[in-house]
Amino acid sequence: MVAVIYARYSDSKQKEESIEAQLKICHAYAVQKGYTVMSEYIDRAFSARTDDRPQFQRMIKDSRKKGFQRVIVYRLDRFSRNQLDLALYKDVLLKNDVKLESATENIPDNSTGILLEAVIGGVNAWYSAELAEKVKRNMKLNAEKCLSNGGYTPLGYKIVNRKYVVDENTAPIVQEIFTKYANGMTIKEICDSLNERHLKTTRGAEFNKNSLHTMLGNKKYLGIYIYGDIEIPGGVPQLIDEDLFNKVAQRMKLNKAAPGRFRAKAEYLLTTKLFCGYCKNMMIGHSSNQMSKKGVIFNYYKCKNSGKNKPCKKKMVHKDLIEDIVVRECVRLLTPKNIRRIAKEVVKIAESYDDKSELVRLKKKIQELQKAKENQMFSLRECTDNLIRQMIFEDLGKIGVEIQGLEKQLEIEEARRQAINENQIIKYLTNLAKGDIKDIAYRKSLIQLFVNKIFLYDDKFTITFNTDNDEVTITDVLLTDIEESLNGKNHCLLKNSGHQI
Ligand SMILES: [Zn+2]
Repeated sequence: MVAVIYARYSDSKQKEESIEAQLKICHAYAVQKGYTVMSEYIDRAFSARTDDRPQFQRMIKDSRKKGFQRVIVYRLDRFSRNQLDLALYKDVLLKNDVKLESATENIPDNSTGILLEAVIGGVNAWYSAELAEKVKRNMKLNAEKCLSNGGYTPLGYKIVNRKYVVDENTAPIVQEIFTKYANGMTIKEICDSLNERHLKTTRGAEFNKNSLHTMLGNKKYLGIYIYGDIEIPGGVPQLIDEDLFNKVAQRMKLNKAAPGRFRAKAEYLLTTKLFCGYCKNMMIGHSSNQMSKKGVIFNYYKCKNSGKNKPCKKKMVHKDLIEDIVVRECVRLLTPKNIRRIAKEVVKIAESYDDKSELVRLKKKIQELQKAKENQMFSLRECTDNLIRQMIFEDLGKIGVEIQGLEKQLEIEEARRQAINENQIIKYLTNLAKGDIKDIAYRKSLIQLFVNKIFLYDDKFTITFNTDNDEVTITDVLLTDIEESLNGKNHCLLKNSGHQI
């Protein structure tokens, strides 16, 4: 078996394994599995939120040549953090007979594995929400003292001892931008003049329309500390006086383009799970306002392989219609008996795939850092040179932040492990059974949890659920095509369809 390795390192502040560490683990995994590694694809400083990563794209492209059968990643989040992208690219790879494997995550690649993943995800979300609450409370306390809560610092300021102070280097740029705009220069002209001088935003990027708009409307420059709904006048140094700020605000208001027509964007919950029964291609979201009067937009799923000049004749299906039916089928699965069965099964798999390596890794890393901290503290006591002392102080600060981050990860990991017991899962699923069927988040989690694959024909469809591998076939009059419905034959079905705009 021939494999390639994909590694990615983002430039976010979040701690993550270095490229070298990722490669080492992936190579070890390949050896263990008996794979031959043909090449490595590495994206440095790219976020997994987008698929605009050059090496990633090259890897996907190369998969068409069918020279390899496996892609190994350190963790699935290296591949993509976006579920849709993950599914889509996994699908592309599969078409080229390539499978994606994670070197550190032991989730079996079948429908029960997906269920396990979804349950773990659901339980994780609970704990993260709880942790987030805690973090939020702390941040609020900070805010009351006008301290920085991390995140990005507006141009013109820097953070010293967690307080906002004037950055002498960049504050004049802020003043220049406000003055120029108030005096009639356009946003574009200002951007050009800044970029010509190679000046950068606090994020290290070139200036653009968006960054300038944000700046020109930022009330912090008036000296107001802002965090969430907390506003404390005088909480930060003032960079722009009120007259200038108001002048800018007035001009911005005048130049604001007429708001574009708002188009509610529909979320297609079945994307990556819904396939055409005839040609087996994925069915994708499609919205249209052509068939309606009064500006109502209708949302459909259509076969990727259908439409103008395309061979498949599968008719489009109304989005809400098919989603409704699928969601109802999911709810029907959530009987007390089924819930108990699922909980048992998930615990069983979780135990057999118990992987403590992440826990061990985090604990070890924290220990190492604590040791480093002690060493630095010792050096500090011995050292009399002020310059070196300053450096040690800075280093200690960095180590402290790193330890804090890892401890938070450890907390989540431990919570997650505790959560995978039968009672917790029963509680989670029972709670899920009581949800509001019209609530989009609820519909989403049900589909994610239970639906594995749907093949849709014009008169019936088959669903495979994640709970077992048997197909369920559903024939329903509701699946008559949209055209007929619009002609009034099935009028009642479309009563609540479309988004009013
Ligand atoms: Zn088709």
